[in-house]
Amino acid sequence: MTFALHGLPVSHGIAIGHVHLVSHALLEVNHYHVQPRHLKKELERLRIAVDTVRGELAGLKAATGSGQGHSEVGAFVDLHIMLLDDPMLLDAARQLIEERRCNAEWALVQQMELLVEQFEQIDDAYLRERKADVVQVVERLVKVLLGRPGHLPPRRKDGLGTIVVAHDLSPADTIGFREHHVAGFVTDVGGPTSHTAIVARSQSIPAVVALHHIRHLVEDDELVIIDGTRGVVIIEPDERVLEEYQLRKAELELERSKLKRLVTARSATLDSEAIGLFGNIELPTDVAQVKAAGADGIGLYRTEFLFMGRETLPDEEEQFEAYRKVIKGMAGKPVTIRTLDIGADKALEGINTRVEPNPALGLRAIRFSLAEPQMFLAQLRALLRASHYGKLKLLVPMLAHAHEIDQTLGLIAQAREQLREKKQKYDEHLEIGGMIEVPAAALALGMFIRRLQFLSIGTNDLIQYTLAIDRTDEAVAHLYDPLHPAVLKLIGGTIQSCARFGLPISVCGELAGDSTYTRLLLGMGLREFSMHPSQILEVKQEILRADVGDIAPKVQRILKMDEPARIREAMERL
Ligand code: PEP
Ligand code: MG
Repeated sequence: MTFALHGLPVSHGIAIGHVHLVSHALLEVNHYHVQPRHLKKELERLRIAVDTVRGELAGLKAATGSGQGHSEVGAFVDLHIMLLDDPMLLDAARQLIEERRCNAEWALVQQMELLVEQFEQIDDAYLRERKADVVQVVERLVKVLLGRPGHLPPRRKDGLGTIVVAHDLSPADTIGFREHHVAGFVTDVGGPTSHTAIVARSQSIPAVVALHHIRHLVEDDELVIIDGTRGVVIIEPDERVLEEYQLRKAELELERSKLKRLVTARSATLDSEAIGLFGNIELPTDVAQVKAAGADGIGLYRTEFLFMGRETLPDEEEQFEAYRKVIKGMAGKPVTIRTLDIGADKALEGINTRVEPNPALGLRAIRFSLAEPQMFLAQLRALLRASHYGKLKLLVPMLAHAHEIDQTLGLIAQAREQLREKKQKYDEHLEIGGMIEVPAAALALGMFIRRLQFLSIGTNDLIQYTLAIDRTDEAVAHLYDPLHPAVLKLIGGTIQSCARFGLPISVCGELAGDSTYTRLLLGMGLREFSMHPSQILEVKQEILRADVGDIAPKVQRILKMDEPARIREAMERL
């Protein structure tokens, strides 16, 4: 039976393919009986899994340098290692395997549920929360017992792609889609500027989120159409609807290919203002797309994607190789690499196991890096070493306090010193910049202007924090408004203050890649935009049609308005 569902459109385009249901409930394990003669083998499976996880945790501890001073991560790793030796967990699971002749993962989950229940009875809030550690340790063990979960089906022979249907997807899951033939995805939850949505846009994978119960309404292999522009998902379409969407899909592809003629066009407005267009990337392999779009360089490399979706942290050498690859790949064009922006919806699954009451306001981005100085120093050394191979600019995320940048500059000086001792080369003139993503930073800009060589506005977080809207929560997604007068004043004010002080400023949040806002940003005085390479040509087309001399006074008037209806009217006339 054909039916349609409406959700939030987060990545444009049309995808047609077959459903692949993804379960991320790692702990929903199968239960099966083990023959008495195989019981020994089952216990051995569990022993190997425990040894593997013990090894992973030891590696993690070494990588975070937790032996050398205070470390949040280190403390949790120690606790998880202790849990692996706890008879309440492992001995009990072994006993269950023998007595009930069941599989190891099921025995573990049974015992975990029993322990969680006991933890829930504890009055002390801290101890009660430790149930999360038991769950994480069991998740690690189950992951090893099952091998890597969530594998996708092979490419289909009928030429149609796979449509992933999930309750939720992490950004790390989504990035894994690159290697598979995933045509589109839909989820029950999520918001338009969540990192999962950002990754979907960067890969031009149509996606619709906030469909509430889609995971329970479709079945594996059903045919679905995703309209990522309108936020519509059609299940089991009839022939007429299918034909209509096939036609629209072909038209969209034609439009996109027509834009390719702009790759070599000079990026300038009608009145000859040169505008820098830069690419945002998540992985070194994205460099090819940035070059194909004719970008002026990379304006944001989100290094956290190197750290996510894995069991251990990348060491200095692995990071150095990744950063050098990007810098060399850009052949002398500027490459802005952002230091680790972990936290909120970019979790270090299994590595940072701290349970945060409010992750977006917690130990995120620069706060996390400063709390893990050994890990941060390893990243800074890797970045400095890579700076020798081209034009690197270093960007620090989510600054709110002057002392955060002072501490960071202190650590950069320390990393330089360590490299000098080892006679390793780096760019002495490396520029250091900061992201303006917190209203406090936008309102007290002087302290960053004085300390840094460039700034970049992260509109995704700036809007989230200004309007108190969780960017991943579909229930408040309708309140996420880039045209809110407070947001406009913060963005406009930041651009204008930088212009007054002659400090280079760019925008690298999703606003920069949305051509609806190109004229507005140009009118505010913005001359550097950074976005996913897939959006560059559309924005360039807007730039080529714009006359800043005409737009700027109109935008100045918009910045003075505080009535939403008037702002929207003025935007239509812009
Ligand atoms: C932003 O917040 O706008 C930004 C570019 O950073 P991220 O999306 O990675 O949080
Ligand atoms: Mg951000």
